[in-house]
Amino acid sequence: MAIKDLIYGSDVDMVAEQELFRKASEIKTLLETERGRKALSGIFTKDDKFLELFLGESTRTDLTFTNAVEELGGRLHPRLWKFSSMAKGEPMSSLTHFCEGVRYQGLIMRHDGEEAEALMREALATRNKKNYQIRFINAGMGNKEHPLQKLKDTFTIQELFSNELLHGPQTNNPLRILFCGDVAYSRTIHSLLAVGGIAQYGAKIWMTSPEDNQLPDSIRQALLKHRVEFSELHVPLKDAIESAQPHILYLSRFQFNLRKEWGGRSQEEKNKYEAWYANMVGVTQEVLNIAPPFMKILHPLPQGPELPKRVEDNSRAAYNQQQGNGVPIAMALLIMMFAPNTDLHLLHQDKHVVTVHARTDGGTFSMPSEIGNISRLCICQGGCGNHTGQCTAVESKISGTWGFVSENDFQSITGKGKVFCPQCRPH
Ligand SMILES: [Zn+2]
Ligand SMILES: [Zn+2]
Repeated sequence: MAIKDLIYGSDVDMVAEQELFRKASEIKTLLETERGRKALSGIFTKDDKFLELFLGESTRTDLTFTNAVEELGGRLHPRLWKFSSMAKGEPMSSLTHFCEGVRYQGLIMRHDGEEAEALMREALATRNKKNYQIRFINAGMGNKEHPLQKLKDTFTIQELFSNELLHGPQTNNPLRILFCGDVAYSRTIHSLLAVGGIAQYGAKIWMTSPEDNQLPDSIRQALLKHRVEFSELHVPLKDAIESAQPHILYLSRFQFNLRKEWGGRSQEEKNKYEAWYANMVGVTQEVLNIAPPFMKILHPLPQGPELPKRVEDNSRAAYNQQQGNGVPIAMALLIMMFAPNTDLHLLHQDKHVVTVHARTDGGTFSMPSEIGNISRLCICQGGCGNHTGQCTAVESKISGTWGFVSENDFQSITGKGKVFCPQCRPH
């Protein structure tokens, strides 16, 4: 399952998403041990170079990608938009030519402005027209989508409520999720609501927000078109929780930075609005008192007054777990996009040594080899006349020579490329 670019949440379908989640779980395990981290760091080489262009504030997303690329052994060059030539009006097409010229594998882009989507499309169009190799990752695009956050959030929800998410519709207990806060501007909420979001699992959706904070009509129409069950409320959070009895409460802060009309306002005005907002759609003590015990709280962070510090100690707080999933999810994404043949399962098998028998002029000798040091397998199933059944030749990554392993060992090696070995190669 390959992912070419990640621009919209729907670029990763449900099958790919589940594969990505399996990888992320394996990566989490691997990251816990030194040996696992070492294995992960060999997936990329220094030729796996990425340019990260940030056109908006985001320490978290930036650090997530920096760590993900580094853990995989690749290189990431972060650049702030305001220091780049793009800020001087250089078109996206010219940047795309540049990236291809210096062999960046991927361009990771975040842009908070309204023109974000158009810029992304310009880059894609240039790539497609010129048949370039460069691939694109959207790390936050205006008030539109933030697909990486969607993957991270859905993965966290699956860790918390796998039965409800994956089997809920069949067992009449679908996942109930209540979105609360800035439904007009929160792109993390928009990404979960968009096509390819949480609704594809049959989740039941509630939203509550202040009256003047409305879901964009394009998203509402898409939900209606796909016959998603959802309720839009404009009531205080505690009332919404009472009607929804949600498994997941998904909060968001008020997005001052994405709203032009708040540009020139004073900090005092902002604080005053935030206090009102927190009272309406924030986690107050009253909210905690009436919330069902099984409910978990997610928040894309950083939090505002809608999510007071003290909530962290409540058993319902799951946003630190959610945040911790950022790096493994980004790593799983990068692997699926840029190293799709990587078999993580093999990386964390403890017994991954096989015995390779090699014929040389001096006779046959045998030596142990880690499966990681085998590059390819022979594909021949007999037609060459040299053997019956599957040929069990394997190629060494280190010496480039071919040897043989036992049938059992051969079966245990997966995720490698297959070609005819020199013995079997058709003439
Ligand atoms: Zn062969
Ligand atoms: Zn053969």
